[in-house]
Amino acid sequence: ITRQVARPEPDKLLPQVKNIIAVSSGKGGVGKSTVAANLAVALAGLGYKVGLLDADIFGPSQPKMFHVEDARPVLEEVGGRELIQPAENYGVKLLSIGFFVNKEDAVLWRGAMASNALKQLIADANWGELDYFLIDLPPGTSDIHLTMVQTLAITGAVVVSTPQEVALADARKGISMFMGEKINVPVLGLIENMSWFTPAELPENKYYLFGKEGGKRLAEQLNVPLLGQIPIVQSICEGGDNGEPVALNPDSITGNAFRRLAENIV
Ligand code: ADP
Repeated sequence: ITRQVARPEPDKLLPQVKNIIAVSSGKGGVGKSTVAANLAVALAGLGYKVGLLDADIFGPSQPKMFHVEDARPVLEEVGGRELIQPAENYGVKLLSIGFFVNKEDAVLWRGAMASNALKQLIADANWGELDYFLIDLPPGTSDIHLTMVQTLAITGAVVVSTPQEVALADARKGISMFMGEKINVPVLGLIENMSWFTPAELPENKYYLFGKEGGKRLAEQLNVPLLGQIPIVQSICEGGDNGEPVALNPDSITGNAFRRLAENIV
């Protein structure tokens, strides 16, 4: 796995950040934001300085997942410049479009408007020195993706998919986009989410609700690493809704799955 690849692109923003990782998915609803949140928390738990930009303009969910829905980031003077102060929780600095617009308006954002707003959240914010800067991208392929690669020297992308065929088909498109000439960002690997379900009363059983190991097969076909398989677990869903990502508790089975995922990426 590529680690801290040389990013000799001095014209790009955030030169003080060591690794910039795009978290993406082909389809919505596969758990991209959940994975991004837990990955950020797990990386912070490993002792890294972490920032997370919620660039999913169609459904900015990170403020809720980090329990900072009511945060209204303020401007602070830093070295003679007025900079947006990211919200912070669980050792992760966070900015989201969701802090600045109400949910109903965010979905109307398109093209240049969204791209410019995101650029501002990168350029005019006090991110400081970071080991990892994660970007929770909108699903699919969009102008935002292009803007991000033009603005930032991205270390690599991770692609989240369920093992279901329709999700995998879109994940494949996403991976091709990153590897294509226009974007040309290394793909660090695929993360299979919702891999199986194990009922509490049948702890030995795994039910492959979305098909078995489709993510693993796609990773093999495309010759990218499979970074992890995350099962469907109620606590992962509840952790998102309660603003307490399961990765906060790395000793739990689910928290440990995200810790291992983070360890596969560093
Ligand atoms: P996306 O960002 O791809 O649209 P989300 O992260 O918002 O997807 O996840 C969609 C829904 O699925 C959310 O309600 C989330 O809590 C839930 N979810 C995601 N991953 C899991 C999982 N491994 N187990 C249980 N629920 C999950």
